[in-house]
Amino acid sequence: MSKLFPHRPNDSKRYAILGATAILPDRCIENAYVEWSEGILTRIGPMPKRIPKSLESLEASGSYIAPGWIDIHVHGGAGADFMDGTLEAIQTACRSHLKHGTTTIFPTTTTGSHESILRMIQAVEAAKRSADASLPSIEGVHLYGPYFTPEKSGCHRKEACRAPVRSEFEEYFQAGSIAIATCAAELDGCANFYRYAKKQGCLVTCGHSNSSWSEMAAAHKCGMSHVDHFWCAMSSVASVRTRLGTPMQGSMLEFVLAHPTMSTEVIADGYHLAPELLEFAWQMKKSSMLCLVSDTSRALDMPPGKYAFGHPEENVWIESTGKVGLSPAGGLASSVVALDHCVRHMAKVTKIPLWEIVRMATLTPAERTGIAADRGSLEAGKRADLLLLDKRLQVQKVFYTSPSSISPTQ
Ligand SMILES: [Zn+2]
Ligand SMILES: [Zn+2]
Repeated sequence: MSKLFPHRPNDSKRYAILGATAILPDRCIENAYVEWSEGILTRIGPMPKRIPKSLESLEASGSYIAPGWIDIHVHGGAGADFMDGTLEAIQTACRSHLKHGTTTIFPTTTTGSHESILRMIQAVEAAKRSADASLPSIEGVHLYGPYFTPEKSGCHRKEACRAPVRSEFEEYFQAGSIAIATCAAELDGCANFYRYAKKQGCLVTCGHSNSSWSEMAAAHKCGMSHVDHFWCAMSSVASVRTRLGTPMQGSMLEFVLAHPTMSTEVIADGYHLAPELLEFAWQMKKSSMLCLVSDTSRALDMPPGKYAFGHPEENVWIESTGKVGLSPAGGLASSVVALDHCVRHMAKVTKIPLWEIVRMATLTPAERTGIAADRGSLEAGKRADLLLLDKRLQVQKVFYTSPSSISPTQ
């Protein structure tokens, strides 16, 4: 298991990692020097001739050093689902991902009741205020459900899928910070939702949708610029034909591939998508517009068995095989691994350069959610959210900014 090193407030000591291979967004540097102080990176480059004596340094040749993972689509871990809606559940799930190297996390909703979604958003706010050194950076909520089309509900409860109504979603935005907002592009009222979420600074996305090219084009004009888990619970030419007849129309898939301004994400757990699809998505969207997401359920780091997806009172159950989550009908229902596994899987089964794989789990999600100014890459001035990985890309050490890293006086 990895060791955790939270940055302490007002710690003016200088730290450095010596001799590791540093993974930058555009290349790797072998035998690198990575230095930080007060939780902020101060120098990254080749090893200097002389190492300052005042440093607390760590010799790490043979290891990799990468920025901390940033997970924009994640439901839970270690037995807890964010939709459980308690401070304890948020903390448990966040801690489990931190051990896997996720230093920034966007807790993601499911299609719960209005009250349960509100409870979840409030509990996430409480976790951010808890000044707990064992937590990663908790960014805003990913308001994922409930605005899905029932015919593409996937493992979410069909009856709870609904169209966005302003009085309802305004309450969510008032309850806490929402950073990512999903809505299916064929639902009544979606344009209002997209415009509202965009104005709040969200990454606006379309998911669990059977929308056509023209519905996507209208949504894109209102600020929608991302599609959740490519190839999963989204439209195809065939599914749009079933819904709208002929002539056959373009779907979400063609729309995303045709527009350089659209980004998307893949669940690279080894069970959702075959290697050729992972590589194809990268060839089409490049690492700058493709994110890796875990889409993990509470079954992360838990034994195989039956688990509630979302709040247990929603009565949606999935079966974890220990490798992937399945719905009772046998369909795919979330992953049971964290982003470290996805990075290793990509490195194992594709020919994508390692720095591009890491970019998809760090800088690209940071850029898409508007937080790249202070994290997502090894760059002086950014947060020293760092992972030390062994040769097999297993996370050994995690240096990170926690809610307690920032002193109350700052
Ligand atoms: Zn989904
Ligand atoms: Zn999901």
